Amino acid sequence: MPDDSPAVPTLAVIGGGQLARMMAQPAIALGLPLRLLAEAPGVSAAQVVVDQQVGDHRDLEALRRVTEGCTVVTFDHEHVPTEHLEALEAAGIACRPGPGALVHAQDKAVMRARLGALGVPCPRNRVVADADEVAAFAADGDGFPVVLKTTRGGYDGKGVWVVEDGEDSAAAFAAAAEAGVQVLAEEKVDFRRELSALVARSPSGQAAAYPVVASTQRDGICHEVVAPAPDLDPDLATEAQQVALRIAGELDVTGILAVELFETRDGRVLVNELAMRPHNTGHWSQDGAVTSQFENHLRAVMDLPLGSPAPRARWTVMVNILGGERPVSSLYAGFPHAFARDPHLRVHLYGKDVRPGRKVGHVNAYGDDLDDVLERARHAAAWFRGDLGEESE
Ligand code: ADP
Repeated sequence: MPDDSPAVPTLAVIGGGQLARMMAQPAIALGLPLRLLAEAPGVSAAQVVVDQQVGDHRDLEALRRVTEGCTVVTFDHEHVPTEHLEALEAAGIACRPGPGALVHAQDKAVMRARLGALGVPCPRNRVVADADEVAAFAADGDGFPVVLKTTRGGYDGKGVWVVEDGEDSAAAFAAAAEAGVQVLAEEKVDFRRELSALVARSPSGQAAAYPVVASTQRDGICHEVVAPAPDLDPDLATEAQQVALRIAGELDVTGILAVELFETRDGRVLVNELAMRPHNTGHWSQDGAVTSQFENHLRAVMDLPLGSPAPRARWTVMVNILGGERPVSSLYAGFPHAFARDPHLRVHLYGKDVRPGRKVGHVNAYGDDLDDVLERARHAAAWFRGDLGEESE
């Protein structure tokens, strides 16, 4: 009998970092073939996705080659140029998220203008051209300090400066000029903590909101996430989820949208920035939610019904494993201790070389007692980092 059931589609993924690597896990479970465009041989996702090509995400021909025969393409990062995404769409390949949405995760000035027009609460902000305009921006508000950001290309706190006066802003303008981008000035928000609201949204408009989490940054890098955010006012949690759902709908985001938020000391949430891909603040969901952000990203971009984002445990804590000052010859060497100490611990390593400050993996711990869960996750991450030795046990 001829098989007239539709062929299993192949999903193209641009970028071979750990996010693409972690998409591969649910792709295996779902039997969904991935085809990867990796920036170099052997990068994190290239170690696990069999169907792969090596090429540059700024090269339209490489993008055309890797998406050949695919109906949908998604991304490990936000750096594919808008015009290339438009060219792929014109060739009938669905970019998820699409170029019209993605630009809001690429360009902070575009994002601020759009969210402002939608009435979404944001820090006071303005694009500035020189030190005098920084001083004028400060004078129009509460004065200095002011936060300056390059409008494009920043990540993990690179491209963010806190300045005490107009003269102090030279470094930001120099970096922006070198990168050919603008500088955005923002009020320095006196926040109680940073929150993150993650939603998955499919092209047909179905959406699922994860519990709002609290994230701790060190030197601009996400360090630790607690899900759900402890002691968060339920009304504020609902508001944060509604803001994320509204942004996803208005911007027509497909896949995961992460909305990074500041919880102010006077009980408001302000949007810091947007990411349109699985996000570090959602890694807890791999072990702490019914459906992980990676699976829901795949389901969303393939326009399949979404899975439940409900938590599996009262608390889940994610702690990143950053390369430490002391080189760790092999993260694998951490397994005997970490696993023996905590049989419930979940470890995710990215197959990356250890360098100081580089994200090379994370651990998830979950349970009913937050202090216990925090201690277990922190201990394990410190152990892998090489910050704990036999003597400190
Ligand atoms: P990146 O693109 O590098 O992630 P962000 O815009 O998220 O940059 O800023 C990095 C960190 O800098 C934030 O997590 C926050 O701790 C701090 N920050 C950014 N904007 C502000 C602001 N307006 N007020 C206070 N702190 C800020």
